[in-house]
Amino acid sequence: MAAVRVRPSARARLWTRLWLGALAGAASAAPDLVRIVGLFDPGDERQEITFLHAVDRVNREPGLLPGVHLQGLVERVPLHNSFQATRRVCLALERGVAAVFGPQTASTSWHVQSICDAMEVPHVESRWDFRPRRADFSINIHPHPSTLSNAYVSLIRQWHWHAFTIVYEDAAGLLRLQAMLQAPTPSEFSITIRQLPPQSDDFRPLLKRIKKNAGTKILLDCRLSTVPSLLRQARELGMMNQYFSYLITSLDVHIVDLDEFKYTGANITALRLVNPSDPAADDVIRRFMTPPTAAQTRETEVALIHDAVLVFARALHQFGRSLHTQSLSCGTERGWSQGSSLLNFMKLVRLPGLSGPVQFDGEGFRTEVTLAITELSKDGLTRVGTWSPDQGANYTRNYGDKMQEIEQSLRHKTLVVMTTVNEPYAMLVNESDTTLTGNARFEGFCIDLVNEIARLREFYVQFVEGGSYGGIDPITGEASGMVKELMDQKADMAVTDLTITYEREQVLDFTMPWMNLGIGILYSKPKKEPPQLFSFLAPLSLEVWLYMAATYLGVSVLLFILARFSPYEWDNPHPCREEPDVLENQFSLPNSLWFTIGSLMQQGSDIAPKALSTRMIAGLWWFFTLIMISSYTANLAAFLTVERMVSPIESAEDLAKQTEIKYGALESGSTKNFFRDSKIASYQRMWSFMKSARPSVFIKKASEGVERVRSSQGRYAYLMESPQLEYVVERDCDLVQVGGLLDTKSYGIALPPGSPYTSTISNAILILQENGTLHALKTKWWKEMKGGGACKRNAKKSSAAASELGLDQVGGVFVVLLAGMAAACCIAICEFIWKSRQLNQAAHVSTS
Ligand code: GLU
Repeated sequence: MAAVRVRPSARARLWTRLWLGALAGAASAAPDLVRIVGLFDPGDERQEITFLHAVDRVNREPGLLPGVHLQGLVERVPLHNSFQATRRVCLALERGVAAVFGPQTASTSWHVQSICDAMEVPHVESRWDFRPRRADFSINIHPHPSTLSNAYVSLIRQWHWHAFTIVYEDAAGLLRLQAMLQAPTPSEFSITIRQLPPQSDDFRPLLKRIKKNAGTKILLDCRLSTVPSLLRQARELGMMNQYFSYLITSLDVHIVDLDEFKYTGANITALRLVNPSDPAADDVIRRFMTPPTAAQTRETEVALIHDAVLVFARALHQFGRSLHTQSLSCGTERGWSQGSSLLNFMKLVRLPGLSGPVQFDGEGFRTEVTLAITELSKDGLTRVGTWSPDQGANYTRNYGDKMQEIEQSLRHKTLVVMTTVNEPYAMLVNESDTTLTGNARFEGFCIDLVNEIARLREFYVQFVEGGSYGGIDPITGEASGMVKELMDQKADMAVTDLTITYEREQVLDFTMPWMNLGIGILYSKPKKEPPQLFSFLAPLSLEVWLYMAATYLGVSVLLFILARFSPYEWDNPHPCREEPDVLENQFSLPNSLWFTIGSLMQQGSDIAPKALSTRMIAGLWWFFTLIMISSYTANLAAFLTVERMVSPIESAEDLAKQTEIKYGALESGSTKNFFRDSKIASYQRMWSFMKSARPSVFIKKASEGVERVRSSQGRYAYLMESPQLEYVVERDCDLVQVGGLLDTKSYGIALPPGSPYTSTISNAILILQENGTLHALKTKWWKEMKGGGACKRNAKKSSAAASELGLDQVGGVFVVLLAGMAAACCIAICEFIWKSRQLNQAAHVSTS
């Protein structure tokens, strides 16, 4: 031991200081013994033991409450017996206690609270209490239900649970979730509330009802002991697989043995108040909660009782040594004068407890809470993140980890893939071959697509044949076809030409699209035009013919006029006579007409213009005829070599305008729904026509529709989706697509709602798209297999079809001719003036 040598004068001073200190200490000395009382429900001693352990820890651990010895009194209060509760509290108060802890039962606790209020003694609670206000002398270390509700709401928001079912056991459960029901806006979530049957352990009818209504997301609020049996019954009903998610509100689910559900694939999430990675918490839990399966007391209660005692000790420590407990009698109205100060100190306490950081507001509600988010995995309920009021949910794993987990869970699993036999997506390899079984029966684009995805994600596939495409009936709300089968989780995915629609997206999950498409019209190839008597007129449009006729007349008349006008077109009929009486002009009106028609017909005539102006007109007319005749000849050649086709319909509008040709779509597909829901007038008209047509124009299978078009000889058009239309016209040269596409949409792989595999399969589709596999598969099944490319040459031929020449094509020649005619007029005027001047001058010379 280290000895301290002190000089005599210093020693005297030290003694004096110690003595004075002792005196001062005596003046403000805290009582050596401070009593607190814990009230407990009978039956579970763990709460009492925890209480006494906490008291013991406070006494033994140096620095927690120096100079004070805490004595914990324990009283058992019969359940719901307020008389006994009152008696026990009053007895304890007579002994002089500084605080009352518990009990856990609400009705007795409220009585204790009112006595503590009257006697001004702090009442420390550690139980769930839904009341929004606290009594004056009470403080509760249990997180307030609204805080827990906020935690659930924030998790549900983060998981995008738009529709879910709340399953509760008793009124308290509903009260517990009340804040949650009020929190979100009504449009945000669609919540179904169901109560577990009271006094019955058979939850199957209720669970069946939930399953029938496609309830895959369940918020479960029930007693801890009910959880395993409920989950067991859910498993019996096929509600414990990857498509179901359970959020259990109890903070102590981890003490229930959930091992049997570890490999079901169901998502089970719960919140936990006690941080298991805290060594102090671990110690307390090990001491008081083993064996865990036998525990009736919840871990949270144990931790909260422990923390409540620590809060009291800390407050007492901060209060100082001036605390005097006193014997109080319930019969008098005199309370404890120091009670309210001590309570205020308690409200100011901040400490890291077993139940996370502890802090109170002015009313005595616990404000600081950190909850661990735990999920059931193959290692049991493991912590995957935390939730706190300030930061919300904070996951320790990121999106990549989550995806990896899902991919891991998918590996070597066998997924049931539903498909429909429909060329070229899925076809029977050989319908007559009965030896083929299982996946070997099928081939096609979708079969290859699924096999590629399965290869990438390393899972096995079992193909099954599904029914019609299906959807949701707008009137009854009933699901049908493959949509219903997927909703009922009869398969893990549906891969066929299933269109992504809003209505289906509401009840199913869709991956990224693997093909884009639109609605097209399949119709019989146009027939050859019968030979026509006046087909020689076809190379030029009527408009051009009329213009030509007008031009011919115009040019002829102009030639006649200009020839009259121009002096150089007047000839001396008798060249021997120098001064003839009469001059002659060869361009009479008939001659002008003859001249122009002669050149138009490429024959010429025996008259020729002599003046510059008339020659100009003649030149331009020849140019005009050259171009027009060449164009006519070239187009006539095209018309004579190419077969002219005529189709009575060129577009959907043409279909809508007539009633002669019937048209229809697939009975249970999105094409029919497109017309049913369309707001465009012509499509609405088409829908009314299709709906009222007798016999029905709707068909059961796409192949039936194609056959109907083929055999109808132009009296039926089938509205179908473009990829299959392309496939059909590629092989059957008598069928064609008429007009363009009526809309744009995509095919996707559909999965049951809430499927965990949607993202990973979407990613696989993107990979296949980027590395060209999708394109290669399309080429294989559309162009190469099963007689693809048969109609290619014909398609080329028809694309070279000739059409008549319109004014747009030959208008320029008319313009040139007009300009030339205008120029000729000007020249004629100049000639006239020039000649007049010459004659004038000659007359002048002869007279002089
Ligand atoms: N792809 C459509 C669907 O998913 C079926 C074919 C159609 O309606 O034309 O409903």
